[in-house]
Amino acid sequence: MTRSAARLVTTLPFTPVITRPLPGTVTPFPNETVDSYISRLASANRTTPHILRTPSHWLRCPLNDLELLELLSGQPRTSLVWALPELRCYEPGIALPPRTPDVITRFACRRCVWQAGGTGTVHVHAPTHYDLVCLRHGIWHSEGVKAIGQQIDLAPVPEVIRAQMLINRLERRHGQRFIAECYRVCERHWAELDRRGLVRNGAVALLKRLPLTDINDLRPLGPHHRFRRVTRFPQLARFTALVASLALRHAANTLGEKAGPTILAEFERTFQLDYRPRSITRPWMETALIHVVVTMADVVRMLRLSETDTSTPSRSI
Ligand SMILES: [Zn+2]
Repeated sequence: MTRSAARLVTTLPFTPVITRPLPGTVTPFPNETVDSYISRLASANRTTPHILRTPSHWLRCPLNDLELLELLSGQPRTSLVWALPELRCYEPGIALPPRTPDVITRFACRRCVWQAGGTGTVHVHAPTHYDLVCLRHGIWHSEGVKAIGQQIDLAPVPEVIRAQMLINRLERRHGQRFIAECYRVCERHWAELDRRGLVRNGAVALLKRLPLTDINDLRPLGPHHRFRRVTRFPQLARFTALVASLALRHAANTLGEKAGPTILAEFERTFQLDYRPRSITRPWMETALIHVVVTMADVVRMLRLSETDTSTPSRSI
């Protein structure tokens, strides 16, 4: 080959193109991640996600994710763009990309997947870290769940479903940014109260109602075990509601001159501790609780929220 011919070969435009869809297809699930969809598509065709993403070992695929999936799955472009938010950047004319990309992913509720005619494990984008319960089916779908079969039917503990409804109401009332931060701060504080054994009785009562089907040993469940997370959630939701209310009142200067005693009194009125703390536990508890409310009051001021609701959360959850 002459030098000029070799130069011609290296500059020839050559792009590999996949021209046929796979024999098997799957319907995309609403809000599904691209990884999850490719994984299900590969499974339906008895191959691996890596092979679908890289059809050739020696040529880079020139297609973007949307073009590739449209070709491989045979699904309409519109369905893919609507269902898989990550693909919207390629076709904003069909559906606008999310304003803030949802970085949190979780398992989809297994009953929602079955109802949509899907199979296998589906991962979806979640707008928040406190989206934990499918309200349609009463299923604890993600936190602490490591496999789809570990999702928990909440029929024996309706308090957990009501807790998710309470959190959703708070979000509608005060906005996602405030409640997301409030929940995060409260979760951390509640975990510490739990670690010190101050607030476990309520959760233990719920635990007795849950069929602990796949627990094979009799050791106490760790604090991050999904059953512990489920049974802690109603108290945590009520605590979040209480702190949100107190923070809004504190920011609006309506807690009175001595905010500290009011905060402690409201907490003790809402929650019954498992034992009366003494020595260093009580001062710690009081200081930490006031700190949580003051921290959230600063967030209220930063977000310029108004005191739209100051009611104390119901004890009925
Ligand atoms: Zn569901």
